[in-house]
Amino acid sequence: MDVPFFSARDINARYADELKAAAARVIDSGWYVLGEEVAAFEREFAAYCGVRHAVGVGNGLDALALILRGYKELGALTEGDEIIVPGNTFIATFLAITENRMVPVPVEPDAASFNLDPDSVEAAIGPRTRAIMVVHLYGQLANMPALLALARRYKLLLIEDAAQAHGASSDGCKAGAFGDAAAFSFFPAKNLGALGDGGAVVTNDSMLAHRVAALRNYGSDVKYRHLFQGVNSRLDEMQAAMLRVKLKYLDEDIARRRHVAQRYRDGIRHPHIRLPQARSEEQHAWHLFVVRCAYRDALQKHLHGLGIQSQVHYPVPPHRQSAYVSLRDVRLPLTERLHDEVLSLPMGPTLRDDEVDRVIAACQVFECPP
Ligand SMILES: *Cc1c(COP(=O)(O)O)cnc(C)c1O
Repeated sequence: MDVPFFSARDINARYADELKAAAARVIDSGWYVLGEEVAAFEREFAAYCGVRHAVGVGNGLDALALILRGYKELGALTEGDEIIVPGNTFIATFLAITENRMVPVPVEPDAASFNLDPDSVEAAIGPRTRAIMVVHLYGQLANMPALLALARRYKLLLIEDAAQAHGASSDGCKAGAFGDAAAFSFFPAKNLGALGDGGAVVTNDSMLAHRVAALRNYGSDVKYRHLFQGVNSRLDEMQAAMLRVKLKYLDEDIARRRHVAQRYRDGIRHPHIRLPQARSEEQHAWHLFVVRCAYRDALQKHLHGLGIQSQVHYPVPPHRQSAYVSLRDVRLPLTERLHDEVLSLPMGPTLRDDEVDRVIAACQVFECPP
């Protein structure tokens, strides 16, 4: 039997009865789009994050894009504005910016945490910079005190891509509650995953929440009254019902992820496998457990040979993708090296201790190629 990288089936099997009851409730209601389930989930998720508003949307990419759209409608952002982003992120962070005809300015991460380095951010701020889009990569909060101070000093919006960080917190403040607005994804593999696509925008700004709620629904606030040229990107009733069940168990799941991470960090001792660091005062949500190894491909092959699945997040950075020839002259040596060296080990709330031990033992006997 292989050690799976992640198993959505095992995760959802734990609540199968509750999920099926919730699905039956939606089926029997006869109301499938923008109804009571979405409204209830929005209230519950906003309360979980500690913010005033949550707006359910179709997916995480749309959540990011609609935040920018919303700020455009409010006059706070405009086409051509520059937004500082980490160079090492999933491409959706970039797509949300270019979809809005704004300019992503990628910067190098901090080598220890893989997250945005406030010094590189400050160095990249120019006359057209209007926002910082921070990504809490792999479930770890970026250095929010320093980034918030920069945003305040330079009068920039601070937008969180929290797609990997549901429930990560510092001093009781949760991912999504630090910046001006935040985007979450409920893709099935995320820490809070739907049984399909889903996303949410969270914010304390009621003007922005109002814009996003209209924009996701053809730009309409009241039926057949259209304030904006909106889109159709709504969280549906079925996914909202699934998410309401799973939100109740999110903290328990994160606790289990922390347990797995602690076991890996205590158990793996290898001169060529660098372990991720977690600041003790923070609750890392451990969406992914990412090690660094100069012989990454050999390590992945070695683990595979022992029946252990692993993945690479991500093999090619956005500025090196064909989609972004406009960024081909950007040089981010650290980002590029990270993409060559990172490997994500199996991680999830249903990973058993004996499976974790197998992964640790397999890492211990890895021999670097000559
Ligand atoms: C998953 C992810 C997204 C996109 O979310 P989707 O729901 O898949 O559109 C955006 N940013 C990051 C960092 C992600 O991991």
